[in-house]
Amino acid sequence: MPKTVAIANQKGGVGKTTTAIHLGVGLALEGYRALLVDMDPQHNATAGLGLPVSDNQPGTYDLLINDLPVREAIRKTAFERLDIITSDERLHGSEIVMVSKIAREHVLVQALQPLNDDYAFVLTDCPPSLGLLTLNALTAASSVLVPMQCEYFALEGLAHLMKTVKLVQRHLNTRLQIEGVVLTMYDGRLNLSRQVAEEIAQVFGERVYKTAISRNVRLSEAPSYGQPVYSYDPTSRGAQNYRDFTREFLAAQGLPVEGAAA
Ligand code: ADP
Ligand code: MG
Repeated sequence: MPKTVAIANQKGGVGKTTTAIHLGVGLALEGYRALLVDMDPQHNATAGLGLPVSDNQPGTYDLLINDLPVREAIRKTAFERLDIITSDERLHGSEIVMVSKIAREHVLVQALQPLNDDYAFVLTDCPPSLGLLTLNALTAASSVLVPMQCEYFALEGLAHLMKTVKLVQRHLNTRLQIEGVVLTMYDGRLNLSRQVAEEIAQVFGERVYKTAISRNVRLSEAPSYGQPVYSYDPTSRGAQNYRDFTREFLAAQGLPVEGAAA
């Protein structure tokens, strides 16, 4: 079974999709096969990786709602070793349809089952809510990675997220672990950023990644070109931060960085 990481935080605009894209491509660049599942009806990960968003092509909706076999839902990205299951507008209606399904929180985990060892990692980019799409992602996950924006109110709603994680651990997925917290849009020059980072460290301690992702305009520009910053601007601070983060992530799994088996 691949290591499956849900990238979740019910707040919008905290860097979930940016982290999903750059961890996904980052792992592929390090030599690991990865699959990104775009679970957000707003399909930013799909568009950010340069894939056309279309209701007429197989995607996460077909996987969850139409029982499409997972291998038929997968598409290639521009990056060797990174594949994607895309999102499109239809996903907006998926939670309503899933409500009446049997084992409705287990739809994704069951759909991914046939993948066996095709991938070293599966990443799920969650929508900004704790609805059925996120519950499916948490139920399918080995761990949850929480991006947190270093802004005022960052910790607001966190208790709710952690309570949800505990409920999933108890009732739906006993193997779910907390991968950690990655600080995003960090600006070390601002007292506020440092204060928020400290508060987050008080709650999560060792589970906060040492690599914080700086606020970097290149990261916000890249998606409109359908590219990650690694190709849009490889020398940018954002590219460097996410490369470091990817390596820290791999090291935390006890996996080698650089020149891993292709
Ligand atoms: P979420 O998926 O949690 O809603 P996104 O990853 O889409 O969040 O990020 C929200 C917005 O902030 C996007 O426009 C994105 O390009 C931008 N952004 C994300 N991370 C950074 C960063 N480190 N620096 C600058 N802009 C960022
Ligand atoms: Mg997003």
